[in-house]
Amino acid sequence: MSEQYDVIVIGGGPAGYESAIRCAQLGLNTAVVEQWLGKDEKPKLGGTCLNVGCIPSKALLESSHHYDDAQRHFKDHGISVGDLSVDVPAMIARKDKVVKELTGGIEQLFKANGVEWLQGHGKVLADKEVEVTPHKGKAYSVHADNVVIATGSSPVELSVAPFDGEYIVDSTGALDFDSVPEKLGVIGAGVIGLELGSVWRRLGSEVTVIEAMDSFLAMADETIAKDAQRQFKKQGMDIQLGARLTKAEVKGRGKKKQVEVSYTDSKGEQTASFDRLIVAVGRYPFTDGLFTSNADLEKDERGFVLVDDQCRTSVPGVYAIGDVVRGPMLAHKGMEEGVMVAELIAGEYAQVNYEAVPSVIYTDPEIAWVGKTEQELKASGVDYKAGTFPMAASGRGKAANNTAGQIKILADAKTDRVLGVHMICQSASEMITQGVLALEFGASTEDLQLTMFAHPTLSEAVHEAALAVDGKPIHIAPRPKRK
Ligand code: FAD
Ligand code: NAD
Repeated sequence: MSEQYDVIVIGGGPAGYESAIRCAQLGLNTAVVEQWLGKDEKPKLGGTCLNVGCIPSKALLESSHHYDDAQRHFKDHGISVGDLSVDVPAMIARKDKVVKELTGGIEQLFKANGVEWLQGHGKVLADKEVEVTPHKGKAYSVHADNVVIATGSSPVELSVAPFDGEYIVDSTGALDFDSVPEKLGVIGAGVIGLELGSVWRRLGSEVTVIEAMDSFLAMADETIAKDAQRQFKKQGMDIQLGARLTKAEVKGRGKKKQVEVSYTDSKGEQTASFDRLIVAVGRYPFTDGLFTSNADLEKDERGFVLVDDQCRTSVPGVYAIGDVVRGPMLAHKGMEEGVMVAELIAGEYAQVNYEAVPSVIYTDPEIAWVGKTEQELKASGVDYKAGTFPMAASGRGKAANNTAGQIKILADAKTDRVLGVHMICQSASEMITQGVLALEFGASTEDLQLTMFAHPTLSEAVHEAALAVDGKPIHIAPRPKRK
């Protein structure tokens, strides 16, 4: 083991592992300090995303979607399957297998690229010295010319609803229920609440979501948020808005244990009883035991490591990326920051376009957007034009029996430049990249209008929404002219 590196990355999640691999590709002698222990108590790479985040949640969303489809939609295609049942432990085991293969894959990539993995806890000392405390054995110090902090985030715990790992759980606990809870409570109608609430609803749970804000999905475009709220209601998800949790307690004994929940809403004090409660009210930047005071690193008022647009901290040669710094807590945002920092360290020019970070909620229908929402454009006084296209008018959507949702494009009224693309529909997670490319390339709606889209595809709805911006969609009837 070398004691001197060109780069030491602390944290082997998507931000950290991508950064390390890119550093190694650029010829830098690189090590990653990572402390994660899996369910099997063995060290793992991949961070939140691969172990308990993006990947396992999508594995369960996929499995539960198949069940839901078989139960509710197969008959529309003339397919009958008789009595359906779910083997929850088998579903969880498949999810765990996916996680194992992917986290092992990062280990292989490290080996192939010559990235060294220092297992254990990393602490930044003064002068870019890093202390590594292994799971077993003595702490030791290593030094690097550059240090990259990529220590991620952790779930917020509410003092009125402390996690017990079994009945009141965070997102990690909600990925490992051993059976389908009859009644499931979810605190927070954010991304995790909606995705994991959907998993267990599809498998048969009666789901109630308790959300403090008065508006639903405030970060999304209002048209899309309203449509989403309607779809979730139709699916049987009970979403209580303006509802603030005051207490959650596990009561009863043995199999009769229940989570008793109290909350206040516009009607006053409310109570509810659930078999399990997921608390998903956000995540906080994880910096526990990360640096000594003489490391001189600054944090902002919310605890994020303070960085500039190119992820430089207050200490020269020390960078911070991913969930531990400002910006959306998204794996792809952290990955791009990781690559940018590696290239900066290697002396190249690099930047991240924070104006074109896509957001996706992997529900059914999926919700995705990039760029400005209509309410943001209104608030900033931008003169804009808008076009929408309903998926009910999409031939491919019809053929797939999936006509829910719509696509909306916002453009500058004077320059025609695309400012925002918003969608709620099947495969929105894939289609949103068209919007990201439009923003990256500074496209106009005319560019999208003149682009040929394959037929029949769901993507044609993007074409039609672009045409609708100028009032000329082909597959929706024009509004009757006023006499
Ligand atoms: P992390 O992935 O959190 O990795 C940080 C790593 O640093 C961890 O492995 C940790 O063990 C290690 N570490 C921390 N401190 C130390 C230390 N001092 N020494 C050594 N190691 C340390 N995002 C998406 O874009 N798409 C999704 O679909 C999506 N789904 C999600 C679903 C769930 C249920 C959750 C919880 C999150 C989801 N996210 C999703 C968010 C995504 O997981 C995070 O944005 C992403 O993992 C952040 O990457 P990161 O590398 O910054 O941090
Ligand atoms: P979130 O910020 O998306 O949603 C939290 C919700 O909880 C908010 O709507 C908030 O108003 C509500 N809330 C807060 N305090 C409350 C209280 N006391 N009572 C009731 N409601 C309360 O956070 P999350 O869902 O926990 O997700 C955390 C992060 O993980 C997000 O920032 C997201 O970017 C990331 N993530 C992304 C994906 C994805 O990209 N598909 C999936 C999961 C998680």
